[in-house]
Amino acid sequence: MLTKLLIANRGEIALRILRACKELDIPTVAVYSEADRELMHVKMADESICIGPADSSRSYLNIPAIISAMELSGADGVHPGYGFLAENADFAEQVEKSGFEFTGPSSEIIRTMGNKISAKKLAQKIGLPVVPGSSGPIGTNPKEEAKKIGYPIIIKAASGGGGRGMKVVNSESDLEESINITKTEAEIAFGDPTLYMEKFFASPRHIEVQVLADKFGKVLHLGERDCSLQRRHQKVIEEAPALGISDETKENIFEKCIEACKEINYVSAGTFEFLYEENKFYFIEMNTRIQVEHSVTESVTGFDLVKLQLRIARDEQLKIKQEDIKINGHAIECRINAEHHETFIPSPGKVIDYHAPGGIGVRIDSHLYNGYVVPPNYDSLIAKLIVSANDREDARVRLIRALEEMVVSGIDTNLEMHIELLKDKNFITGDFDISYLETRFKTAN
Ligand code: ADP
Repeated sequence: MLTKLLIANRGEIALRILRACKELDIPTVAVYSEADRELMHVKMADESICIGPADSSRSYLNIPAIISAMELSGADGVHPGYGFLAENADFAEQVEKSGFEFTGPSSEIIRTMGNKISAKKLAQKIGLPVVPGSSGPIGTNPKEEAKKIGYPIIIKAASGGGGRGMKVVNSESDLEESINITKTEAEIAFGDPTLYMEKFFASPRHIEVQVLADKFGKVLHLGERDCSLQRRHQKVIEEAPALGISDETKENIFEKCIEACKEINYVSAGTFEFLYEENKFYFIEMNTRIQVEHSVTESVTGFDLVKLQLRIARDEQLKIKQEDIKINGHAIECRINAEHHETFIPSPGKVIDYHAPGGIGVRIDSHLYNGYVVPPNYDSLIAKLIVSANDREDARVRLIRALEEMVVSGIDTNLEMHIELLKDKNFITGDFDISYLETRFKTAN
């Protein structure tokens, strides 16, 4: 059961979870760091507990502090949001062992999927097409392995995430050095130096499939998202549905994702991420949590994914049938960051004036308010602006209108970059891949 929920996150996602709890009449406990006393959801939650200093390793990543906060407050469930402990199997295990409800799949699944090597192996075993590459960690003869795959290859950290711990290698002469660099990076960033290699696709799109499963074996898909517009392997703009993929090709991959979930007894919301090139999907990883871009799926389907996650966590059966899930129109999301629109230098500080855009088809998920001080300690995401409309072109124009209406002063934001990108001729025609934003955007005009 789940009668009181602890929100183990901050910023827009914490507020998002709190809103879902209010609608489900679930009392909430906010935990926050010393830098986050003034966060909106901390003020709105039924209870709030400070769990440590600004440094996230001593607050939002501090498992004992969060478990203690659950015990102290009487919360019997936790929602980890995204980032921080959302895909930390040890945390999920601690929650399970304490007899509390973790909003997500079992710690066992998180552990398997959290390691990209074991996730790929499992994906392959259960019939998903995977990116060609080594079947395990890089062995004693990497040159031979790379030759077999064929250059260019990409070296990846098995425990990597957030676009870090990856290096493209174009030729054998760069291989050894690249392995050494990535190994050190992986050790420092993820505490695990294990690497693997796979084929590097030159111009794929990033297409992902949203799934939802209850504890009674029912699995649904909620269509796909295109998240190809990325900077440093991190998504900048996401949209649903994806352009130019036939219904048949889509249905085929949806079916495979559903079968995969059934095979591993998956529970809660999850995302299968694929690279898509020349009409073929290649599995890269599974995210066992709610994602930043879940909102575009909500906009086109009308379903509240966080509420459904919470319903699943409190042992409810999913009443929705697959045929009830229809994709209506088109939705696009912009990630608005506190950073300079050209240099991308983070810009923490006091928000002097904040005005959220509105009007038909406009949704803003943000924890900002006038006078709020964006702390320098965390991710720079300050708002997600999501619009929906009957078709992609209407959504695009509406999003530009909403971005132009939005005011955030006192700090730098990337609002201008988004406007420019949405007016870009390749964005308009949908002619872009994962490298477009970094390599051809602007010069393509
Ligand atoms: P993370 O867990 O850090 O997000 P992913 O494995 O999901 O890492 O990859 C993030 C992004 O990196 C992908 O969306 C894609 O842009 C790029 N990428 C990953 N693997 C490959 C590959 N084999 N070829 C080309 N690009 C890749």
